[in-house]
Amino acid sequence: MDIPTPKTIADIFFPYIHINSESGTASENLAGAYVHQFVASLPYFQVHLDQFGTHAIAGDPLQRGVVWALVRGRGKQTVVLIHHIDVVEIEDYGPFKELAFSPRELEAALRQNPAALHREAREDLINGTYFWGRGTADMKGGGAIQMAILAEVSRAETFNGNLLLLAVPDEENLSTGARSAAALMAELKTRLGLNYVLMINSEPHQRKAGRVGILSGGSIGKIMPFVYVRGILAHGGKSPEGFNPLAILSDVVRRTEMSLDLAETRAGVGEMSPPPTWLMVRDSKAVYDVSMPLSAFGCLSLLTLSNRPQQVLSNLQYLCETAAADMTSKINQAADIFHQKTGRSPRGQRWESRVFSFESYLNREISARGAAFKDRYLELVASVTTALQRGELSAAAATWTILDQITQLDETSQPIVIVGLLPPFYPSVSHLDRPEYGVLIQGIGQTLDQLAQERWGQRYELEAYFTGISDLSYSSLSAAPEVEPVISRNMPLYGRYYSLPFDQISEISMPGINIGPWGKDFHKLTERVLKEDLLECTPALVMAAIQTVLGNSCPD
Ligand SMILES: [Zn+2]
Repeated sequence: MDIPTPKTIADIFFPYIHINSESGTASENLAGAYVHQFVASLPYFQVHLDQFGTHAIAGDPLQRGVVWALVRGRGKQTVVLIHHIDVVEIEDYGPFKELAFSPRELEAALRQNPAALHREAREDLINGTYFWGRGTADMKGGGAIQMAILAEVSRAETFNGNLLLLAVPDEENLSTGARSAAALMAELKTRLGLNYVLMINSEPHQRKAGRVGILSGGSIGKIMPFVYVRGILAHGGKSPEGFNPLAILSDVVRRTEMSLDLAETRAGVGEMSPPPTWLMVRDSKAVYDVSMPLSAFGCLSLLTLSNRPQQVLSNLQYLCETAAADMTSKINQAADIFHQKTGRSPRGQRWESRVFSFESYLNREISARGAAFKDRYLELVASVTTALQRGELSAAAATWTILDQITQLDETSQPIVIVGLLPPFYPSVSHLDRPEYGVLIQGIGQTLDQLAQERWGQRYELEAYFTGISDLSYSSLSAAPEVEPVISRNMPLYGRYYSLPFDQISEISMPGINIGPWGKDFHKLTERVLKEDLLECTPALVMAAIQTVLGNSCPD
């Protein structure tokens, strides 16, 4: 078995790039069709028609699917190659938009306008060492490598183990593809008796030093908590009678934005999660008038290494309680003083701070209001889900609508703070957290480092987490019984719109590693992938990892 040639990879790469498969659109299906067609053209699959196909994603409004292909050799041991077929939008390309999917033409145009680029990009352009364009690095480059390897393995006369290729949509959005692929993998496992031993993703890697490549033995987790505050509406001229929800929410934002307390460091490996940042913070007013807003809503992106959702939510809830207590006392005091100084009678109403998790608020309302309330709630969730699926609402707006409606019945005339979750949820995974995976992943790391030193005089380091968020998050799940209820009960949109196949991920759990080409500036105009990695080094590394794990002899 040989390593695919640079020409083989380039022949797959350029037409693949040329398809605009923007994430969250039906055009992802064009990229899926390209992969399917490629597989169908291979002689092996022309006689093994039941070993590839498109696994339809249940309930997907865009009717997308996961393209899969399985080369069967000897035994049950199976390596999974996964890559995503979608790319992010191309707004950033400005005047070069037309060329975003044509690497050669784009490079020529950039050479005419080098001033459009920052210094490092300009140098890379002059050196001619990169392919430029949307998806070159993230991640049709890695996808082309995986397809070429599948073709190579399918031609082998003898092969220990099995190789499963998965080409999944929607990674840049909600990872609908990878979540659905877990069901497919579980089905193949049961039907064919496969034993999954390794998942290889080929997302691009970033380097701190030029001659040192990076492998990742896991992937950072992502969780998106929301904070909702319902205040007490008053005319701006009667501020002591009201409670502005922005007061609490803005204080929560101030306490949490870039908070090092909410970031995690991994002792001993020098890795840290980027501190959290708020992706949106808004009040409910659609037009100007002189009243306070009734509610405010915000969501923050929080990346996790080892922390589980329960910890994240309780940390945030604690911060909200502190902020709400401070703010109610400040507002009570100011209103009291206003009453004193203006000779009014002492205030009867005192603000109290009340902070709930979504789960506890909903349970409280259901037990107070009974079955009729629960039915109304379920109808409400169903109607916003339909609007979401039609693209009429965002997940944030849909969640906010649910919260506004269910808190409307609250008769206490007190502000309410609710903390919960928006989709998506990416569990953090790492070989460091699974000792049973550690030996294998570290062994692969050493083998590939040695290979890279011998062949190209380069080093490869193994990091614990791929920090760009990836589908590897769904390669394994520990503590599913603990995680599932926290996610499902605190995410108002959990169910028809968004869900995680916890059981199936637990069932297929396997170690994961990212082995991808060096790429730069993903999602930007200057997205590019190193030619040497794409055409030569990464295919050799991925092939060596497969061979090592499945016990085949390494190609020269
Ligand atoms: Zn990617």
